[in-house]
Amino acid sequence: MSQPEPITFVCASCASSSVTREAWAAWDVAAQRWSLAELFDYAFCHRCHRRIVIETRRAG
Ligand SMILES: [Zn+2]
Repeated sequence: MSQPEPITFVCASCASSSVTREAWAAWDVAAQRWSLAELFDYAFCHRCHRRIVIETRRAG
């Protein structure tokens, strides 16, 4: 089995990798930590300081 190609996500406007997605974290009692429960389409660029379109790039 071959390793999948590593990917990264960048801002479609400025190509910065300083991007985040809106998500819900739910409390996991067994693990005693917040874990990712839901990931939304809303993406924010911390360089553009606004909502942006996220782009997938090869990380290699
Ligand atoms: Zn940007």
